[in-house]
Amino acid sequence: MTSTTDLIALGNEHNSPSYAPGPLVIDRGERVTLFDHDGAEYLDFVAGIAVNALGHGHPELVKAIQEQAAKLLHVSNMFYTEPQIRLMDELCRLSFADRVFLCNSGAEANEAAFKLARRFQKVVAGKPNKTKIISMKNSFHGRTLAAVTATGQPKYHKGFEPLVPDFLYATFNDLDSIAALADETTAAIIVEPVQGEGGIVPSAPGFLAGLRALCDDVGALLIFDEVQAGIARTGTMFAYEYDGVAPDIMALAKGLGGGVPIGACIATDHAFEGFERGSHASTFGGNPLASAAALCVLEVIQRDGLCQNATARGEELMAGLRDIAAKHDVVEDVRGRGLMVGAQCAGTSAGDIVTACRDEGLLVNIAGGNTIRFVPPLIVTEADVTSALTRFETAVSKWSNQRAA
Ligand code: PLP
Repeated sequence: MTSTTDLIALGNEHNSPSYAPGPLVIDRGERVTLFDHDGAEYLDFVAGIAVNALGHGHPELVKAIQEQAAKLLHVSNMFYTEPQIRLMDELCRLSFADRVFLCNSGAEANEAAFKLARRFQKVVAGKPNKTKIISMKNSFHGRTLAAVTATGQPKYHKGFEPLVPDFLYATFNDLDSIAALADETTAAIIVEPVQGEGGIVPSAPGFLAGLRALCDDVGALLIFDEVQAGIARTGTMFAYEYDGVAPDIMALAKGLGGGVPIGACIATDHAFEGFERGSHASTFGGNPLASAAALCVLEVIQRDGLCQNATARGEELMAGLRDIAAKHDVVEDVRGRGLMVGAQCAGTSAGDIVTACRDEGLLVNIAGGNTIRFVPPLIVTEADVTSALTRFETAVSKWSNQRAA
């Protein structure tokens, strides 16, 4: 058997320098546990960055993928397949949307949203100068050129200039800052209902409703990026339900396929008037394999009450983290919604604590520079949460003791 060290050396020889994976080679997973190349076990509270909604090796998801793979893998959008049709129908039944553009990732879903919004303003509203898109500082929308331009964090822009024109940045949870930028040239406003990569920051009550009113005032389309917060992660199927306000367009990905790559830009009939035949497309979008996986994920979430589970387990997790914060001054703030939880750490300690957690067999990662992100599979049990909290506290106290020594 090739050793972990040799495998990593080979990976590092060929991997894009833009990636810097941790020092593990993951071999397989079961439920909320990952096993590395040497057989060591880890409790997976990062879930492929909020992707593995049903955990690892979920028997129904495995069966759905296996059966679909044996039947039909791909035909492109030249033809319909039943899984694709059923998935679009289900997404519309569950949400505000009437139509769906299926693609393969979160960035692509946002890219589709921007193209749809701009084309809507030109073609449907008849306003060719209505091209500006307002996004939030500290947001994250993906890595394609338009999605990275929308991402309100300069560090992601560096070296890729010139960026896509007509993107403006306002302050999250500050309606005045958005009102100051919004006018008759605004095509759309995009916001994450809970900022993810920015450090797990939920929108303040009323913020989304305020954005809805602002968009209606200036004739802009409202886009919610629920790539990370959607698909039951925050305790409702979609995060916008929390505020009782619907967008015109929404981007989904991550948890939707439970680990199989899929994205979706979903929108109202009216917004979709912006597209006509040939306006936008993706070879793999709506591929029957990914669609079958997504249908299975949506079905299991509803049947097994995983929205309720996300709320209950998220409350236990946040309560436990707050207890730890009270005992160890290294954790400064705990926030989140459902199973999208952040523990903000003092100074630059978050990276060290993520490493200390790994040494205790707990996988988490960093969001927003100083916040430890907990986005476990939606199937976690109370016992999994208790185990994660024990490992986290051990990691924090070992790290604190080392620092003091
Ligand atoms: N939007 C949000 C809110 C995200 O969190 C991410 C990824 O982290 C993306 C978009 C980009 O998704 P992808 O990496 O699938 O392109």
